[in-house]
Amino acid sequence: MALNRRLIVVSNRVPPGSSFESQGRGEASVGGLVTAVRAAMEQSGGLWFGWSGRSTRRRVTTGPTVRLYGRIQLATMDLSDDEVSLFYLGFSNRTLWPLLHSFPTRVVIRHDTYRAYRRINQRFAQALMPFLRPDDIVWVQDFHLFHLGYELRRLGWQGKLGFFLHVPFPPAEIFSILPWASDTLSSLLQYDLVGLHDDRYVHNLVDTLNFKLGGEFDGENYRYRDDTARLGAFPIGIDPNSFKPREEGHAHTLENELGLADNPDRKLILGVDRLDYTKGIPHRLRIFERLLERHPTLGSKLLYVQISSPSRTRVPEYVQEKDQVERLVGQINGRFSEAGWVPIRYLYRSYAQSELAGFYHDADVCLVTPLRDGMNLVAKEFVAAQDTDSPGVLVLSSFTGAASTMKDAVIVNPYDIEGTAEATYRALRMPATERRRRNRSLLSVVERHSSQNWSDSFCAALQEL
Ligand code: UDP
Repeated sequence: MALNRRLIVVSNRVPPGSSFESQGRGEASVGGLVTAVRAAMEQSGGLWFGWSGRSTRRRVTTGPTVRLYGRIQLATMDLSDDEVSLFYLGFSNRTLWPLLHSFPTRVVIRHDTYRAYRRINQRFAQALMPFLRPDDIVWVQDFHLFHLGYELRRLGWQGKLGFFLHVPFPPAEIFSILPWASDTLSSLLQYDLVGLHDDRYVHNLVDTLNFKLGGEFDGENYRYRDDTARLGAFPIGIDPNSFKPREEGHAHTLENELGLADNPDRKLILGVDRLDYTKGIPHRLRIFERLLERHPTLGSKLLYVQISSPSRTRVPEYVQEKDQVERLVGQINGRFSEAGWVPIRYLYRSYAQSELAGFYHDADVCLVTPLRDGMNLVAKEFVAAQDTDSPGVLVLSSFTGAASTMKDAVIVNPYDIEGTAEATYRALRMPATERRRRNRSLLSVVERHSSQNWSDSFCAALQEL
């Protein structure tokens, strides 16, 4: 797509400068979103603006730090410790995250965190405004910055303004738990284009707008008083080439990583997630336990590798989740282990995507069973990393955005422990012809909905408005 205007991306965190250096291209470690946005920025120049990830004890009074990578500028701001605690750990992670993922009992409502959230959105807008030129396209990313568009408009920005929500949008009754629901929705209508991953989320957003504000939707545009925003689904994807097996094979293997002896009879189940309660890791562990109970003959042939990358380690709900996961791993391993066989290998650490590519490739089954997930990229990465001759099987929760298009996965309901355990058993025993057929179809979906297509189609829609 030919983008003929400068692209300004605003997100809570800005990718590290190394992702914009030329040697980063094509490497799985950069991530599909960054690769795709960087490509768009390289065409016509670009600026990426956001929080540096650093915090200071005192209030921050200095302006953004700017670095230049070819035609791309990165501008970052520091926040104070208090702001991180209220805006990021508080309102973003303990209010909006559980709300948008439909975990109402986990939603923490505090007026001080909301005030800090509004202040940071305002500060971002004030700091960004001097960088903007009238023909720029501004693309705001995700729930940390719902009000940024409204603040930019207040400061006089009249140019193109888009917003993309990387998480689900919940049903109206759930979103209404937020005391500031109407203000948040009004702010969303200040954008020209609001993108979500899936038609189901667009439907929820329209329903919530009708319920709280009472405007009109013509199937594309939502109108309320003097504001009109285009709403649409733009499913995000990956860069499949970064995960595909190379001729010389993947550089990393699970067997090397875990020090396993080569065993052609072994069956490997893999789970890869941030350690987040939305991912349903305790449910998944119970599913695995049920599988071992129901099919004892699988016994020592079966190994379940769960990679849980540390996430939001200062948020209390995440500390509790980690404790629960580790207790369950201990219980299940304690119950089923035999001499020379421990059924679950639990790895609490992060791996580079180039390493994950090899791990996906080695797995017979990948369990992607979140209780709720905006899209889920692990599902797509797993499919891309398979050998087309003997691919592994994707078991995918219906409560992910990915399930809308990846219909040839084994679709499961992770709340149904017994049903999902049986589906996993069938996946482990699936004949090669069926595995190949499903993988071919899934791979075509992953290639069609790549990160590049996502970025191109969103920017094209915004440019044409
Ligand atoms: N990931 C990673 N290292 C890890 C675990 C995960 O790089 O140890 C990456 C993974 O490759 C994927 C992303 O983190 O691209 C997770 O994205 P997903 O949409 O599945 O879930 P999210 O974490 O965004 O909720």
